[in-house]
Amino acid sequence: MARGKKLYEGKAKVLYEGPEPGTLVQYFKDDATAFNAQKVDVIDGKGVLNNRLSEYFMVGLGQIGVPTHFLKRLNMREQLVRSCEIIPLEVIVRNYAAGSMAKRLGIEEGKQLPRPIVEYSLKNDELGDPLVTEEYIAAFGWASPQDMDDILSIALRVNDFLSGVLYGVGIKLVDFKIEVGRVYEGDFQRLVVADEISPDSCRLWDIETGRKLDKDVFRHDLGSLTEAYAEIANRLGVLPKNATPMQKPTLIN
Ligand code: UDP
Repeated sequence: MARGKKLYEGKAKVLYEGPEPGTLVQYFKDDATAFNAQKVDVIDGKGVLNNRLSEYFMVGLGQIGVPTHFLKRLNMREQLVRSCEIIPLEVIVRNYAAGSMAKRLGIEEGKQLPRPIVEYSLKNDELGDPLVTEEYIAAFGWASPQDMDDILSIALRVNDFLSGVLYGVGIKLVDFKIEVGRVYEGDFQRLVVADEISPDSCRLWDIETGRKLDKDVFRHDLGSLTEAYAEIANRLGVLPKNATPMQKPTLIN
């Protein structure tokens, strides 16, 4: 499918104009960044895996009635999505303490939280995505109180869905981030899960061994990132068994 004009290039994805009004083509790059882009690398095959995994989770969410921006996968690295107005918040759901929360509160990594906790950061790289309260969100008009009710219920539904699906293949969903967008339909607006859901934006630990299968592998140099992501894809049956699309061609003597 012919792509339109490049509209935006982020750290892991590029957005192009879609073939019809109201659509975009979302291209998954192999670039990996961490610590607000202080650590940067290109990881062969990451984009291919994230395209597939995000498709898998978004389609599943659609099937249980959680609206998303996903329309269809176009090829190995691209998907067609609905264009939406992104609410400038990172919506984070945590089931176990890790990352910035473990650090901020001095809680041991991996400790189960009394219940899922939803928190919000302002999407602003220059400020390092600061944590914000609902009071800030309402006062600055980043989202309305009605939006926040909907975002909370979407976030918890996504959490239950992802936790269950991943639990079924022996993976613990420690935490994750989603972005939410507004779609206008005539006089109405509704909220949809946008951006991506992939191991770049989740913490995923093997239940048996505790092995990390997410972007922390890259953040903390814990081994091959594509191997970790391919492990998730294989367990979920997202890639044909033993498929390794990320491998470079090898010379056969
Ligand atoms: N996360 C993300 N993008 C961000 C910040 C966080 O996808 O810009 C995800 C991260 O991968 C983790 C969850 O949100 O699954 C919680 O991240 P945390 O606040 O612990 O921040 P971090 O320790 O990753 O800086």
